[in-house]
Amino acid sequence: MLDDLQSLLDFDQTHIWHPYTSLKAPLPVYPVRSAQGVRLTLETGEELIDGMSSWWAAIHGYSHPALVQALSSQAEKMSHVMFGGITHRPAVELAEKLVRMTPESLQYVFYSDSGSVSVEVAIKMAFQYWISQGKPERSSLLTVCGGYHGDTFQPMSVCDPVNGMHSVFSRVLPKHYFAPAPRPRFDEACTEDDLDALKAQIFSHHDHIAALILEPVVQGAGGMRFYSPDYLRRVRELCDENDILLIADEIATGFGRSGKLFACEHAGIEPDIMCVGKALTGGMMSMAATLANEKVARGISEGSLPVLMHGPTFMGNPLACSVANASLSLLEKTPWQKRVLAIEKQLREELAPCSFMPTVADVRALGAIGVVETHKAVDMARLQKFFVDKGVWIRPFGKLVYIMPPYIISPEDLSKLCAAVCEAVSDSRFFG
Ligand SMILES: *Cc1c(COP(=O)(O)O)cnc(C)c1O
Repeated sequence: MLDDLQSLLDFDQTHIWHPYTSLKAPLPVYPVRSAQGVRLTLETGEELIDGMSSWWAAIHGYSHPALVQALSSQAEKMSHVMFGGITHRPAVELAEKLVRMTPESLQYVFYSDSGSVSVEVAIKMAFQYWISQGKPERSSLLTVCGGYHGDTFQPMSVCDPVNGMHSVFSRVLPKHYFAPAPRPRFDEACTEDDLDALKAQIFSHHDHIAALILEPVVQGAGGMRFYSPDYLRRVRELCDENDILLIADEIATGFGRSGKLFACEHAGIEPDIMCVGKALTGGMMSMAATLANEKVARGISEGSLPVLMHGPTFMGNPLACSVANASLSLLEKTPWQKRVLAIEKQLREELAPCSFMPTVADVRALGAIGVVETHKAVDMARLQKFFVDKGVWIRPFGKLVYIMPPYIISPEDLSKLCAAVCEAVSDSRFFG
């Protein structure tokens, strides 16, 4: 029945929800047949240069032989076993790598299957820590506007209150404290004025705040903004002064995307709890992890409820762990930092012409992330078709047209992505 392409697409549009879509007025989707390196091949045969890394994940490109090999050889041995009462080599090896690669004080690892769940676990760790300290009233979070932490309920509750889903779910979302989005840009210093509102929130509510959660330096899906590492350094100090745990959500930034292995390194700080996901498996499998330091791990363990109350069915899945091991080994063997910095330089140069266009509000690049922010929201469906016709896969949202390619992209392919962005944002047809 689904032999021909049209009936496949018809079935999709009638029965399947894609991210943030309506079944009654579905947006067009493009059927991909295969993906290799930096190319997506459509069912119709066209090849697209990938500018998205499938949302920060496919850092080595698609179908990398080292990852395919890890997956297939692990599948022959053992695809999955429960993690309750059982351990296995892939999980232990991955924990060893994560402990070694992440900031030094993070020594304890909890595995989960998606970024949102790893944020849930981070928040649960913070709440359990304070229950263990005999301060259960420390059950709120502090965060900054402009953030994105996932789509399940606790993560949603600390997403940007305007761009996020607060108004839709206001009756059921937990209420937390917000400070304004960090004002100083990446290359600017942070003044004490920039911290006033955050300090005021801490001053008024620190008896109820378990943790401050934010994305270090790069705010991803909440607005693709890059803020001053100085700000992050001051946040760490304020958390220390007020005995507030710091949760760094590195799900988007982790594993090199911002030009450092972890974005926290721009500020030279270490969080108490850190979430990783997305690029952890090089984009091949869904997997995430939450890491904690001694203070948090010991704090939980010494309380009246010494066990961390979480345990997903597919926790520590051997296939995902093996692929993650292969991806991290590959990352360590390749000159990723040189590649990411070369991508940053080229993005700056080749997106620069956009900054003179009347449609454009801002152009910025950091690591392998290039962003053109427009004054008006783009007509996504129309612009998407334009990009596909140009042979590139770029998925804009709202006022943001951005690219974050696999680190292995060639300068020629990256030029094609940048040229497509420049051409698109100069064209008033694409603005509603
Ligand atoms: C994508 C993302 C998440 C959520 O991860 P999922 O795997 O989509 O659940 C959380 N935080 C940040 C910063 C992200 O970019």
